[in-house]
Amino acid sequence: MKNKITDNEVKLEFLSKSNNEAFARISVAAFVSQLDPTIEEISDIKTAVSEAVTNAIVHGYEDKMGIVTVICKIHENEVYIEISDSGKGIENVEMAKQPLFTTRPNLERSGMGFTIMESFMDELNVQSILGLGTKVTMKKKIKQTEEVEDMPVTLEEALRG
Ligand code: ATP
Ligand code: MG
Repeated sequence: MKNKITDNEVKLEFLSKSNNEAFARISVAAFVSQLDPTIEEISDIKTAVSEAVTNAIVHGYEDKMGIVTVICKIHENEVYIEISDSGKGIENVEMAKQPLFTTRPNLERSGMGFTIMESFMDELNVQSILGLGTKVTMKKKIKQTEEVEDMPVTLEEALRG
């Protein structure tokens, strides 16, 4: 068994500036790389984090500045990621999660963010209160490297893009 790391946790807090989306995505990838994920697993996680953080910045805070919090935990070979904002909240979460649903069609949004998170991660949960904010939690199991043919990702590869 290659995964020797047991439990670990990090917390990131950053301003809701679009530049910080890459910071969050790359930081989570670097943290998760201690589990020896494959390139595909790390790429799925980066995409999901990118969608959730972009949502917090674009929809949660809109043009205002606020704090986005990302908590990432490792438990055995499972990654848990929580992305939260104290922005405007979502009126109807079930509707918001539907493919192609967007409240900002004029902003080149396709309404596929939640669908992408759901398909790239094993579990997705969205909690939101109007006027208070939104918390997105996601889980993904990182397969033991013996079980997959792909080579584990190196830190350099995790940090790329
Ligand atoms: P895309 O992600 O494809 O660019 P999108 O962001 O509109 O488009 P989703 O990410 O699926 O699509 O989100 C659907 C809708 O849920 C958004 O249009 C927005 O109304 C709402 N939403 C999502 N995240 C938040 C958030 N953190 N705060 C407030 N509203 C949100
Ligand atoms: Mg989105």
